[in-house]
Amino acid sequence: MNLEAYLAPYAAHSADTRGRRFPEAAPASRSEFQRDRDRIVHSTAFRRLEYKTQVFVNHEGDLFRTRLTHSIEVAQIARSAARNLRLNEDLVEAISLAHDLGHTPFGHAGQDALNACMKEYGGFEHNLQSLRVVDALEERYGAFDGLNLVFETREGILKHCSLANAAKLGDVGQRFIDKTQPSLEAQLANLADEIAYNNHDIDDGLRSGLLSTEQLDQIDFYGRHRRQVEIAYPGIGGRRAIHETIRGMINALIVDLITTSEQHIEAAHLQTIDDVRQAGPLIRFSDAMAADAALLKRFLYENLYRHYQVNRMTSKARRIVSELFTAFMQEPKLLAPNYLDASGNPAQQARKIADYIAGMTDRYAIREHRRLFLVDEI
Ligand code: MG
Repeated sequence: MNLEAYLAPYAAHSADTRGRRFPEAAPASRSEFQRDRDRIVHSTAFRRLEYKTQVFVNHEGDLFRTRLTHSIEVAQIARSAARNLRLNEDLVEAISLAHDLGHTPFGHAGQDALNACMKEYGGFEHNLQSLRVVDALEERYGAFDGLNLVFETREGILKHCSLANAAKLGDVGQRFIDKTQPSLEAQLANLADEIAYNNHDIDDGLRSGLLSTEQLDQIDFYGRHRRQVEIAYPGIGGRRAIHETIRGMINALIVDLITTSEQHIEAAHLQTIDDVRQAGPLIRFSDAMAADAALLKRFLYENLYRHYQVNRMTSKARRIVSELFTAFMQEPKLLAPNYLDASGNPAQQARKIADYIAGMTDRYAIREHRRLFLVDEI
């Protein structure tokens, strides 16, 4: 299929990319966005996602989502919707697979702890770190640091950013200052992320036993889909009922997202991707669906992310991350030479330590903590 011919005029077209920071010859057998996706898949940071927590720490069970499987689910949802909206599937795939590359070990607990440690040194933010991974930290090419991705992929990776940081980032930071929108592909990857985690966290929450179906039935959106499943398959129960219900919810969210976005796109009379950037957010849920999704999110926040068993892990994770950071700051000579900063500037040393910790998988961080703090472990 000739993708370029299929794309809407306001989609991101590979031939019209704003290009790479270090100019490279156009790829021979694939589009610029496909090349980015391939670079992301082959990166070290991508492989580490397999051992980084989404909600449940990697060793808690083999069936829970990790950041890797989460990223693949996001890519699947984003690509399905992109094809329907005639947006660029290759670009949404690249953005989706890269969106969590900068995540610390131990999910949000790790991110919050590292941000607190970095407070005096410019803070730590995982979206910005994802960009830092692809712009600077990956060491794979002779001619440049990072992966040298195109502007459109980098724009999509940088979902949020403080104004102070935006000012330092040049072209990808500009939209936060101008208050304009990124490509529709970037907007789509962002909402696909939300669809993926809300639904897979319900699945993982039920699988772990921390959530019950009785609790979930009280959420109107879940209850409605669950009843539909019971009508379609009388007597269905157990895992099949859960999977059918979640399947129905994901499908409803995607269909709503496509239909609503189509309406907004049509009303905006877009000609080019520049019109997209000047318009308001166009990839959206209907108001009713947004309200359902918000309730679901709140339910998960109150009942899963704050469950005491999850709290125990997040408390431990916070301790591991902040103790590692403090030990390295106090005694930089504990660091391997590539993380040692020669400038004598504490902020630069702190940033290198943050890069090191953010790059750790859950189990690597646990092991490193043991190596530093247990006297009988070397
Ligand atoms: Mg995500």
